Amino acid sequence: MSEQYDVLVIGAGPAGYVAAIRAAQLGMKTACIDDFIGKDGKPALGGTCLNVGCIPSKALLDSSKQFHNLTHGFESHGISAKDAKIDVGAMVGRKDKIVKQFTGGITSLFKANKVTAISGFATLKANRVVSVKDAEGKSTDYSATNVIIATGSQPIELPFARFDGKHIVDNAGALDFSETPKRLGVIGAGVIGLELGSVWKRLGAEVTILEALPDFLAAADADIAKVAAREFKKQGLDIRLGAKLGKAEVGKKGITLTYTDSKGEQTLEVDKLLVAVGRRAATKDLLADGSGVKLDDRGRVEVDAHNWTGVEGVWAVGDCVRGPMLAHKGSEEGIAVAELIAGKAGHVNLDTVPWVIYTEPELAWVGQTEAQVKEAGIPYKTGSFPFAAIGRAVAMNETAGHVKVIAHAETDRILGVHMVGPVVSELIAEAVVTMEFKGSAEDLARIVHAHPTLSEAVHEAALAVDKRAIHKAN
Ligand code: NAD
Repeated sequence: MSEQYDVLVIGAGPAGYVAAIRAAQLGMKTACIDDFIGKDGKPALGGTCLNVGCIPSKALLDSSKQFHNLTHGFESHGISAKDAKIDVGAMVGRKDKIVKQFTGGITSLFKANKVTAISGFATLKANRVVSVKDAEGKSTDYSATNVIIATGSQPIELPFARFDGKHIVDNAGALDFSETPKRLGVIGAGVIGLELGSVWKRLGAEVTILEALPDFLAAADADIAKVAAREFKKQGLDIRLGAKLGKAEVGKKGITLTYTDSKGEQTLEVDKLLVAVGRRAATKDLLADGSGVKLDDRGRVEVDAHNWTGVEGVWAVGDCVRGPMLAHKGSEEGIAVAELIAGKAGHVNLDTVPWVIYTEPELAWVGQTEAQVKEAGIPYKTGSFPFAAIGRAVAMNETAGHVKVIAHAETDRILGVHMVGPVVSELIAEAVVTMEFKGSAEDLARIVHAHPTLSEAVHEAALAVDKRAIHKAN
C-alpha cells in the first residue's frame, strides 16, 4: 500500500511550497515533492524563484547597483571613491549565501508546519497516485485525496543557440559568471534580459540585447516603455529591435551571432550569450497515461477559473497553468486551492496581478494599458505625474520616470496604473489595493500621502486625472 496523504503537492517553488504550507495550516496531512538539486549537490526547496530566479537576481541587481552608484552615481552627493573594484566571486558568493538562507528557510517552515518534503521527480498516474523517482532511480508511489501540480516553467531553448552552460547560458548561467564578460549578448529584451543585462552592464560589460519584436517592452504601457528605453540607452545598454537571430556559432574568440533586422543581415561578436526568450510550462513526463489531466497547445495544464483540472481532486497552480508567469500569482493560486480543498472560499483575481521589472529605473504596473483600454473602446481619462517634481526623488537624485493613472471617463474607476521610476516595485502595491477594492481615481486623490515620499507621485497622478494636480501645470 502506498503512503496516503490528504494533499500531495508536486513542486516546491513559490506556488507549490506556499500551497503545501497553507494546506498543512488547515490541518491536512501534506507532502511536497521536488527534484531541484542546489549548487551544493543537495535537494533545495524554493524552485526557480529562490534558487535561480527572483531572489538571486535581486541579490546581484543590488550588488551591481551599489557598485555602479560608487563609480557613477555618488559624485553629485560629493562622494568619490578612487579605484573602486568589484570582486565578482565575492558578489556571487553573497548571492549563494542568500539563496541558501531562503531555501533553508523553506525547510524550516516545512518542519514547523509538519509538511513532509520528498525529493525526486514526480509523475501523476490515475486515481491520484504519484510515483516519485529519487536520485538513485528508485520509484515510490504515494497517493492522496488531492494533488496540486505546481511544476513551474523552464527557459525556452532556441534550436540554433542551444544552452551549453559555458558560452550560451540561460538565466541560471547568467547568475554565475565567474568574471564580468567583456561583451555580453542577450537574446530577448524581456524581463530577464533587461534585469540580467543591467547587472553585467553596471559591472562593466558591453551589453547588446537583440529583440525580435519591433516594439520595446510591448506588454507595458507605451508611455513607461518609452521612458525606460530612453534611460536604458543613456546607461549604455544597446537594445536592437526587430532583430531576428539566425545563428550563434561558438568559436575560439567568442560567439558570432548572425541576425537580420530592417537593414538586412548583421553579425555581432560576443564573449557570452544569455538567451532569455521566455519560458514554457514544465510538464514534460509529468502525466502518465490515465491521469486524465489535459495539456493545452502550449503544454500548460488545463484548469478552470479555480485552478481545477477537471479530474477529481487534481489541481494545478503557478507557471504551469494559464496566466502570467509570476511568483506572486502562483503563490496566491496555491493558497486559494488549499483553501478550496479545505471547503473554504478561494479565488485569485488575475486582473490585478502586479508586474515589476527591477531595472533602474524600475517599472511596475497593474491593470490595463492605455492601448488595451482604447482597443476595448472604453471611454477613459489619464493623469500622470513626473518624479522630477517630487521632493524625495530629487533628494535621492532619482528623478527619471513618472506615474500614470488610467480611469474610466464616466465612473472614474481605475483601469490601470503604470509606473517607471525609483522603487516603484513598492509603490505599485497601493494601486493594486485600490483596484482590488474597485476604487476610483478620486479615492486615491483623497487619501493622505506622507510628505516627503515617492508615494506623492501616485497621489498627484490621481489628482491629475481630474486636471487638479498641485505641483505641475494641468
Ligand atoms: P519575456 O517573455 O519577459 O521576454 C522574452 C522576450 O524575448 C520578448 O520580448 C520576446 O519578444 C523576445 N523573443 C522571443 N523570441 C525571440 C527571438 N528568437 N529572438 C529575439 N527575441 C525574442 O521572457 P523572459 O525574460 O525570458 O522571462 C521569462 C518569464 O519569467 C516571464 O514570464 C517573466 O514574467 C518571468 N520573470 C519575471 C521577473 C519579474 O517579475 N521581475 C523576472 C524574471 C523573470
